[in-house]
Amino acid sequence: MTAGINLTFTRQTNHMLTVPWSSLEGWGVPKIEPYGPLSLEPSCTVLHYAQTIFEGMKAYRDEQGKLSLFRPDMNMKRMNTSAARLALPTFDGDALLELIKKLIQTDKEWIPKEPGHSLYIRPTMIGTQKFIGVAPPSEALIFVICSPVGPYYPDGFKPIALYGTTEYIRAAPGGTGAYKLGVNYAPGVMPQKEAAKRGYVQNLWLHGSEHYLTEVGTMNMFVVLRKGNATELVTPPLDGMILPGVTRDSVLSLARSHAAGTYKLANLADDLIVSERPITMKEIQEAEAAGTLVELFGAGTAAIISPVNRIGYLGKDVHIPTGPDGMGPVSRPIWTELVGRQMGAIPSPSPLC
Ligand code: PMP
Repeated sequence: MTAGINLTFTRQTNHMLTVPWSSLEGWGVPKIEPYGPLSLEPSCTVLHYAQTIFEGMKAYRDEQGKLSLFRPDMNMKRMNTSAARLALPTFDGDALLELIKKLIQTDKEWIPKEPGHSLYIRPTMIGTQKFIGVAPPSEALIFVICSPVGPYYPDGFKPIALYGTTEYIRAAPGGTGAYKLGVNYAPGVMPQKEAAKRGYVQNLWLHGSEHYLTEVGTMNMFVVLRKGNATELVTPPLDGMILPGVTRDSVLSLARSHAAGTYKLANLADDLIVSERPITMKEIQEAEAAGTLVELFGAGTAAIISPVNRIGYLGKDVHIPTGPDGMGPVSRPIWTELVGRQMGAIPSPSPLC
């Protein structure tokens, strides 16, 4: 696993979508054209000042052969938020989504039929103005490319070990952690390599002297704690340092519907409490010592749910329980529900799809 999403574009589909923009003419004519190299001036702003944002979403083929995207409106909204943060042009999310659907239709034979497989879609926007100088670009380009991907865990869930990173940070208050900007990812590669050298798969990004848990590699993070007679599902709040993940939102809304009794998930405890609150490494260590640490997992489009069995922290390992199949008592039913909705096995008239 790499610091990125571990979905290699070794096989991209035949086509790509491009939409140019200029400050004089606004959004130009969209084109669905054969996949191929872009022509960029060496002086263009993306190559110097990292004016690049992106999204990651998947298209699924259900058992009846019907194609669907999973909550793509959220990706469009987030991409616009990212664009605004970099002073790149914003766009009509519904219009881009319609174009992306056309692209998917064009290359629909690339959407795998095997269960657990999908088409990964990567919308990207870059600043293309020829300009050496830091300013909003007067020219930009949206492009969208796609690649068929297999399941993240083809042979069953493999819990991962995290390195509780105290040397480097991913995000800071007032910074850009809450946006999906290229610039947030390149600096994570070297710390991930260092974590790997120490025998851990990913960085657990911590914040401040209290070592608040924030994110896991390139996933949002959830912890499950036993609280008296109740089970608490905790995730850090969207405080400007956390990327507002689509999967995070889905996990939270499913768990909240279950806790409220409005939509019950099979095999999930009734006594669930759902908390968006800060959580520190001290609380994790105390829960481990008290035997109340139930599970910890990452959540994101690529892996959906990624169970964690160990955190290296200040020279010691915190051990986290994992179930016989790698998943825990809260992550398993939520994963089943999410995958069921994505693959069409569970009909979803709900807001999730
Ligand atoms: N955090 C980071 C830093 C990410 O890159 C991602 C992947 N986009 C996520 C969380 C998960 O977001 P999503 O569920 O929308 O894939």
